[in-house]
Parts: sequence; C-alpha cells; structure tokens
Amino acid sequence: MRLLLDILLPPRCALCPSSEEPVCGPCLARLPYMTGPACARCGRPTAIPVEDCRECRGRRLAFRQAAAAVAYEGGGRELVRHLKSGRRRAVAVPAGAVVAALLDPGGCDAVCWVPGDWWRTVRRGCHPAELVAREVARRWGLPALDLLEPARLRRPQRGLGPAARRRNVRGAFRVRRSAAAPAAVALVDDVYTTGATLDACARALRDAGAEVVDGFTLARAVRW
Ligand SMILES: [Zn+2]
Ligand SMILES: [Zn+2]
Repeated sequence: MRLLLDILLPPRCALCPSSEEPVCGPCLARLPYMTGPACARCGRPTAIPVEDCRECRGRRLAFRQAAAAVAYEGGGRELVRHLKSGRRRAVAVPAGAVVAALLDPGGCDAVCWVPGDWWRTVRRGCHPAELVAREVARRWGLPALDLLEPARLRRPQRGLGPAARRRNVRGAFRVRRSAAAPAAVALVDDVYTTGATLDACARALRDAGAEVVDGFTLARAVRW
C-alpha cells in the first residue's frame, strides 16, 4: 500500500519539489507567521497590540480569544489546501507543530476541534482539524477530546458573506451526549475566516459547561 501511494504521489515537500517530506525546513521557515502585534480578542494583525478591533468589536463572540499561527496567504494557504485535500495527512504534523510552538495554551485543560461533516470526512478518509488538534494536544501535553459533533447538515462556508456564515453555522454543532466539557477548552480549526464557526462551536461548549473557550487556528484570513 505504501509503495503504491509512493508511485501515485512521490514523497516530497508539500510546498516545493524538495524530497524532504512532508514540509522541508526552508519552506517551514518561509511560512507567513503571525508574529507581529495583533488584536488580543480575534487575532487580527494590527499595527500595535489592541484589546479589540473593528473586526470583533461589538460582536458577542462565545470564545474568549482566538489566535492563529500563520496568515492564510502564500505558503500558509498552500499548507491548508494540502491539509484539506486529505491526500497528505502527514502535513498535519508540521501544521500542529507550528500552532503548538507559536501559540500559548493559556490555562486550557484539554484540546478539541471543530467537527467535520461526516460525508466530507469519509471522502477524505480523515478530518484535517482533528489531525492538527491531536498533534497540538500531544505537544502541549494536554488530552485531545472528541467533544463536538455536527447537530445538523450545513452547507460549506466558502463563498458566503459574514452574515450568511453566521446564519449557516448557528446551532450547527453540539457537544456529544456522552462527553463533558472541561472548564477551559482549547478549540482547534484549520482556518479562521470570520470567526463564525469558532463562535458556534464555542457556544455549544459553553452551553455544555465550559467556562472558557480559546480558539487556535493554523491560519487566519488577513484583512488590513
Ligand atoms: Zn519545501
Ligand atoms: Zn479583533
């Protein structure tokens, strides 16, 4: 099976022709890291550190704060594309590594992830956000908990405006019946676009007893 996969997809860096896999050192070093000042609430890059910003001010967000490791552009966007394609599961390891190294788990007790639609997970054979979350949890030394599930079918967020995104995910997630939400939860997803998905998941976790939910994403859409 491994040999067959190698013939179909020769092992190499996901971002360049280097034979080093899954992502080579130089490509990893060149990712658009979000190391500058940012909004403490929603993670949007800003000129100086701020407590809130025009993107999150006045919004009732259920998460306490959200932070991302890389900008959703250039190599950051490519990395997410490979992760979502499901054909390069191994990129979840460096993806989780950059999230765990750059972002601080604060006082979180456990790590969970934004759940995928079952049919997309079946088609890909994996769920990217879960793979990243498990790697992050391992590196932070925290338990990875399968807390959330879809409560109903929803259409993909892609192509929807901010208001439509909020409507599309409202009530779309719930905590599994058998699960108990810890007091402080780190919620992991691949991309932060408007924060609507993280907000909907955080709301479900808060309704199930979590006091604090912090969002952590590999990438973030950047609007200056
Ligand atoms: Zn490379
Ligand atoms: Zn903000």
